[in-house]
Amino acid sequence: MALFSFSIPRDIVYGDGALARLAGLKGRKAALVTGGSSMRKLGFLDQAAAHLKTAGMETIVIDGVEPNPSVETVLRGAKAMEAFAPDWIVAIGGGSAIDAAKVMWCFYEHPELRFEDIITPGSMPGLRTKARFVAVPSTSGTASEITAFSVITDTAKHIKYPIVAADMVPDLAILDPALPAAMPPTVTANTGMDVMCHAVEAAASTAATSFTDPYAFEAIRLVFANLDRAYSDGKDMEARFNMHNASALAGMAFTNASLGLVHSLAHKIGGEFGVTHGLANAILLPTIIDFNRKSTRKYEAIERAMGIQDLAEEIRGLNRKLHIPATFKDCTEVDFNEAKFREVLDRMSANAHGDPCTLTNPGKPTVADVKAIYTAAYYGGSMK
Ligand code: NDP
Ligand code: MN
Repeated sequence: MALFSFSIPRDIVYGDGALARLAGLKGRKAALVTGGSSMRKLGFLDQAAAHLKTAGMETIVIDGVEPNPSVETVLRGAKAMEAFAPDWIVAIGGGSAIDAAKVMWCFYEHPELRFEDIITPGSMPGLRTKARFVAVPSTSGTASEITAFSVITDTAKHIKYPIVAADMVPDLAILDPALPAAMPPTVTANTGMDVMCHAVEAAASTAATSFTDPYAFEAIRLVFANLDRAYSDGKDMEARFNMHNASALAGMAFTNASLGLVHSLAHKIGGEFGVTHGLANAILLPTIIDFNRKSTRKYEAIERAMGIQDLAEEIRGLNRKLHIPATFKDCTEVDFNEAKFREVLDRMSANAHGDPCTLTNPGKPTVADVKAIYTAAYYGGSMK
């Protein structure tokens, strides 16, 4: 028998008013890390600072973390932390703010390290000698509040690096549905389909176990029951609560079971065309389910559990309700120019095949398979 481990945050607080849990932290100083302006404008940054004040803590704000955060942003934040010496780091915002704060934390704990030193999975030294970490997500998608992952971009080289370290799993995740309730409908749709992909890919992963499956299956059920509600009525707080929890549940599954080809292909087409991660995932997922079906019985297990006939068709139907296009050709978010698609297809297919997420995909796809999937997802066409 093989040996496994399962890591998740020690505490997860979820539901109405969960943000107030910050007032119960024990410590002297907290560094609040956030993105551009949404948390400040919506008042959540002030609320978080007020709770930390109630806890008797002095705080600083490290803001301006950009979408797809850069190495420079991370180093700037780590310097500010070194000067302030917090014993808590509180990241509040989307996946970008939480991801950046995780790696700031690493460089605050280990100022002698360079970015190159932590790129290899497992190379990051231990954390928590100076501070502990709280994550308060404002989107229901990446599950960075749960995971051992952070995605940081080297802007000079145009490369996105997934940083993996078990110590980056936060100590406390605070899931307050008031925060994602402020997301506009397109962000709700794209991040929500990212949750669906995390859950379906974790379930079908070759590393799935009886520890990860229950979370993946429950997340799939919650997304089917709640995502179009949260999309069509952003103030439906029950749907927001269920989607926020679904994101974290899917995170518990995929941080331990990993992912598959949907993420491999989404990462590389995102790198080439700049398409939003969740949107690329949503377009790729049904085609990849059709392709993988010969190599796994897991989709049948999902269909039985959900009481549905065909998972890929159900996902196509959900995409239509969310106004997500069926193909990249029909996607208007970025310019999916056909000439450029043909030009980059070989390189993109080889890179996607080499993505770490391919390792746990059911079956053993070839580079030619990856190319055929990209082509079907671009033009429309069946991979059954
Ligand atoms: P971002 O954190 O990039 O946020 C996207 C935009 O939404 C920003 O402009 C942000 O504004 C805004 N925003 C965030 N929350 C709200 C809200 N409640 N109301 C209104 N606007 C809001 O998006 P994601 O959460 O999708 O994170 C994407 C990042 O996560 C990528 O870098 C991706 O690579 C990474 N990722 C990480 C994973 C992990 O396991 N760690 C897994 C998958 C992806 P503002 O900046 O002003 O706050
Ligand atoms: Mn994802």
